[in-house]
Amino acid sequence: MANFGVHAVGAVGVGAFCSAILGTTDLLPLTDMGSSISMVALGGIMPDVDSERSEAITLVFNLLGISVAVPVAVVAMGPLGLLAGLGVLVAAFATVRFVLIVPFRSMTVHRGRFHSIPTGLLMCCGVATLAARGLDMGPLQAWIYGALFGAGFLTHLILDEMYSVDLANCRIKRSMGSALKLFDRDEVLPYLGLYLLLLAGFALAPPPGALIDALQSLQIKLMPDEWVLHYIEQLAQRTRG
Ligand SMILES: [Zn+2]
Repeated sequence: MANFGVHAVGAVGVGAFCSAILGTTDLLPLTDMGSSISMVALGGIMPDVDSERSEAITLVFNLLGISVAVPVAVVAMGPLGLLAGLGVLVAAFATVRFVLIVPFRSMTVHRGRFHSIPTGLLMCCGVATLAARGLDMGPLQAWIYGALFGAGFLTHLILDEMYSVDLANCRIKRSMGSALKLFDRDEVLPYLGLYLLLLAGFALAPPPGALIDALQSLQIKLMPDEWVLHYIEQLAQRTRG
């Protein structure tokens, strides 16, 4: 498997790329670039929530705690005021960091169901649902954040698979195929449950139609405008002459 540094750099790189595309196509305002890169980064480290190494799971739950606590506190501060809002912030962080972490530490198996495509999709639905219902975002914006999280998650699974191939020794490690998977024949019932959860996740999430429409009509210009090329040509001629 790839180590934490590789996952962090990979996810931030993919986050910067996706955010640049969303920014230039007006799907996301420039002021949201930081949060969109952070969302990809969060997705990029999330699968290692099942890691047997305690630093990885602690870091994931620290980040997860902040990601959950801040929006919850922002929503709570309106009706409750600053002091109680800060209390909610601490309580939400502590719940995720010290309570939700317990079953993960004891029950999860590394490269188990957390390293799988259906889990990634389920989490995309969760992010979109939280964004729409918790933060009052429209369906398009909510799904953009869901998809950004998914891009990070998928990057993690791909990197893990890439690190399963030992190019120097021309061999494939035993972990090959244990990250980027749709199903595991040894775990039929748990996967059935996971797919049922995914169906429920889609039903709860806002309709993804707006994101599909936006992606279909996405027009990305690959080459510079004619006047820019002309200007470069003139500049090159002047330099030569
Ligand atoms: Zn991993």
